[in-house]
Amino acid sequence: MTTNKMIKSDCELASECTFFHTFNQRKSIAWQGFLNVYCKAGVSFLCERRKYQFETGCQPSANLMPTGRLVPPALAALP
Ligand code: SF4
Repeated sequence: MTTNKMIKSDCELASECTFFHTFNQRKSIAWQGFLNVYCKAGVSFLCERRKYQFETGCQPSANLMPTGRLVPPALAALP
């Protein structure tokens, strides 16, 4: 299993999404699972970042999670 493998996204905003680009190489199960659910598993329509960008034309800060909350310190500390 390659631990340095980047997760590819099915979300049409992934190429410009600062959250995705900032965190998609994190290796912990928490990060990999989180990114897989929102960015790859076809539920990107639930992403609050995506909704915000479509509504405003602007992208939120990189540390805003798809849930609409800021990345908590405990999650940020994980690889
Ligand atoms: S965080 Fe949201 S906007 Fe960014 S790639 Fe994932 S689903 Fe798309």
